[in-house]
Amino acid sequence: MTTENKTVLKLAKVQDARLKDKNVLMRVDYNVPIKDGVIKDDTRIRETLKTLKLLLEGNNRVVLMAHMGRPKGQPVEKYSLKPVAAKLEELAGAKVHFAPDCVGPEADKVVAAAKKGEIVLLENLRFHAQEEKNDDAFAKQLAKHGEFFVQEAFGALHRAHASTAAIAAHLPGAIGFLVQKELEYLDKAMVSPVRPFLAIIGGAKVADKLSVLYSLIEKVDTLIIGGGMAYTFLAAQNTNIGGSLLEADKVEEAKNIILKAHRNNVELLLPADHRVVQEIKPDAKVDVTQAMAVPDGWIGVDIGPRTELLFADKIKGAKTIFWNGPVGIFETPAFASGSVTVANTMAQATRAGSTTILGGGDTLSVLKTAKVKSENISHCSTGGGASLEFVEGKQLPGLVALSQK
Ligand code: AMP
Repeated sequence: MTTENKTVLKLAKVQDARLKDKNVLMRVDYNVPIKDGVIKDDTRIRETLKTLKLLLEGNNRVVLMAHMGRPKGQPVEKYSLKPVAAKLEELAGAKVHFAPDCVGPEADKVVAAAKKGEIVLLENLRFHAQEEKNDDAFAKQLAKHGEFFVQEAFGALHRAHASTAAIAAHLPGAIGFLVQKELEYLDKAMVSPVRPFLAIIGGAKVADKLSVLYSLIEKVDTLIIGGGMAYTFLAAQNTNIGGSLLEADKVEEAKNIILKAHRNNVELLLPADHRVVQEIKPDAKVDVTQAMAVPDGWIGVDIGPRTELLFADKIKGAKTIFWNGPVGIFETPAFASGSVTVANTMAQATRAGSTTILGGGDTLSVLKTAKVKSENISHCSTGGGASLEFVEGKQLPGLVALSQK
């Protein structure tokens, strides 16, 4: 359970380790979007700067390990971290050496050449198959680059990989400021939220969000289900959904969640009207349904205007809000209205003093579409998968490994 993350796991903090003149090996999540060699969003890099600053001020040499994409255990040029090194140098204001491999003589040479107070970024860990296999010999090779390990890759904590799990057996370690911040927000929301506590879960697939729904139903006052997955819930209530997304094998689970919500006195809200099209294409003619049902021949692509008002009202009335997943096919501008309204109302709620937490890559893209700055949300998680697993109550392997020391 989430509470256990705080009470059972004993996690050292980087600021308490008082690192000076050391070789520090730090795992970061620099899996940033890159197009034609240009970084499209550097949030994940910027979020590590506070820990980097602390370590550099302590005159430590910082060796960074990271992954990019899914190169499947071999070098793939488009997944090189090289463009990240240049961006990091600019943002950190310190010398950044780039090592063309993460282990072996080439890496050792670059690390040895770096001075205290400088940074080394190692090439993509996933160019080696041993990384994702949590291989201990590989972790040992990585561990040679440092005397102390800092875990700052929140987005990779739910993976038991060599650089997140096995590594912890080889070096003393601690969590960085970013991981601390992520855990504080999520833990507070799950353990002692200021109420009313509202969760908005959207996105395409019920199957992906089942565990999180089961967990939230035990904690929230109100649960809003939107997006493609809402249609399976509507179908579970015998509401006609036309040609909208349906996961027929999840209808029973949906019924079960509705029942549980009822038993737990949780208010469960589904879209009360919809924006619908006859064919999913950007220039499709969009109609609005009169009620909850979607007529045959039509497909629900976004919540309707009445639902927008209803959801916005609930957001304004809540004191803690957790949001994961868009409530419509927001990538198409004509179907983005509902998700944009949710994003704007979240920003409004933040200004009014509520704690707003946003998890997941797609949900962050909605913020961009809505032109809402991440500063206007209390906390935007840098790790979609990790934040969901945390909310599900699962222990994150990257934390378990560190706490066992
Ligand atoms: P997820 O990764 O599960 O959060 O799903 C995000 C995806 O859900 C986005 O790409 C949306 O386009 C999609 N989505 C949201 N609403 C709908 C809908 N009504 N029908 C189909 N897909 C949807």
